[in-house]
Amino acid sequence: MKPDLFQSPDYYLLDDLLTEEHKLVRDAARAWVKKEVSPIIEDYAQRAEFPKQIIKGLGEIGGFGPYIPVEYGGAGLDQISYGLIMQEIERGDSGVRSTSSVQSSLVMYPIWKYGTEEQRQKYLPKLATGEWMGCFGLTEPDHGSNPGGMVTNFKDMGDHYLLNGAKMWISNAPFAQIAVVWAKNEEGRIHGLIVERGMEGFSTPETHNKWSLRASATGELIFDNVKVPRENLLPGKSGLGAPLGCLDSARYGIAWGAIGAAMDCYDTALRYSKERIQFDKPIGATQLQQKKLAEMITEITKAQLLTWRLGVLRNEGRATTAQISMAKRNNVEMAINIAREARQMLGGMGITGEYSIMRHMMNLESVITYEGTHDIHLLITGMDVTGFPAFK
Ligand SMILES: Cc1cc2nc3c(=O)[nH]c(=O)nc-3n(C[C@H](O)[C@H](O)[C@H](O)COP(=O)(O)OP(=O)(O)OC[C@H]3O[C@@H](n4cnc5c(N)ncnc54)[C@H](O)[C@@H]3O)c2cc1C
Repeated sequence: MKPDLFQSPDYYLLDDLLTEEHKLVRDAARAWVKKEVSPIIEDYAQRAEFPKQIIKGLGEIGGFGPYIPVEYGGAGLDQISYGLIMQEIERGDSGVRSTSSVQSSLVMYPIWKYGTEEQRQKYLPKLATGEWMGCFGLTEPDHGSNPGGMVTNFKDMGDHYLLNGAKMWISNAPFAQIAVVWAKNEEGRIHGLIVERGMEGFSTPETHNKWSLRASATGELIFDNVKVPRENLLPGKSGLGAPLGCLDSARYGIAWGAIGAAMDCYDTALRYSKERIQFDKPIGATQLQQKKLAEMITEITKAQLLTWRLGVLRNEGRATTAQISMAKRNNVEMAINIAREARQMLGGMGITGEYSIMRHMMNLESVITYEGTHDIHLLITGMDVTGFPAFK
């Protein structure tokens, strides 16, 4: 793969809106990605393997629980720093950002928000360093966009719960030490349970042959009469709103992350357009290629403004689920469109692993589908503005 020469576009001087801390956090993440992710990620993606050696570094740059309080091992940062870290990690690879998002917002967040003090003390510090990795089990083979229909269930056996069912498409599942699993009790109410690797009847077969997020490990979670200790139930919140609260946090991070992937594609295409000579001049001197680049930087700039404002609203506790849906949907579509255009700008070279664009493009096919599909986010916006849910 080519050396990582990335230069971040900032067309509207948005750095002026960031604090010194934001810039320090972002620059540290950027430097780490250049040193530890860019040189190896293409190889791992080609081999469909998650690079486990980067886990410790991800923890050190605040990639695990950036906004979790310091007393639990988190970085104690605000929402804009969290977003900037996701942007930088996804600039390297969406699969690596997925690992970070799952650990932060889908495992640490529910334990922090819905867990007991004992659970927080037991799990969060180890998750923050990456000593333990976690995964989040919501999606089932027959219930994706409609997780409320889930059939995974648990029964109260007095001194423990008995868990049965299966989850599918679970990021980090093949190597995670713990899983935050959403299941229905005997009354049909959804609760979160912490399931630990090694519990009898719990297995995590890996999902193979993905063409997308190849450097992220995906698997199933199978529960066959798993005895879960009573103290592993998350008592603070139940119902579908509990997992959806985690998804709000993760989707917000994805909205930032997608900008990272888009910036990398734009930066690569811009550099290539100045170097590649056809018909005796750089392809960047042609109107058609300039149109592509001009539209890319316009869309990136709009997405940067959207996420910055959303970050301010989240810092103030005012961001709504529907606002987060809009940003996730807009930014991922923006990124996938830029990846497709940028890939064409590199001609045949665009399909090789010499450049990051095709990997970003394939990764974004998962990003546009998971954490709520593109269609579902549109329905959320539609419901928000009309008051009519159109899901059924
Ligand atoms: C690589 C990867 C990693 C993932 N990681 C995780 C994870 O860690 N944890 C987890 O729990 N899940 C995870 N997922 C699952 C992901 O969230 C689901 O794939 C997603 O929610 C969509 O569900 P589905 O695949 O069952 O599609 P479906 O829900 O079957 O949707 C199929 C199509 O129908 C459309 N559709 C559905 N309902 C409607 C409707 N009412 N109106 C109009 N159109 C509709 C959808 O938009 C989509 O286009 C992951 C998925 C992938 C691909």
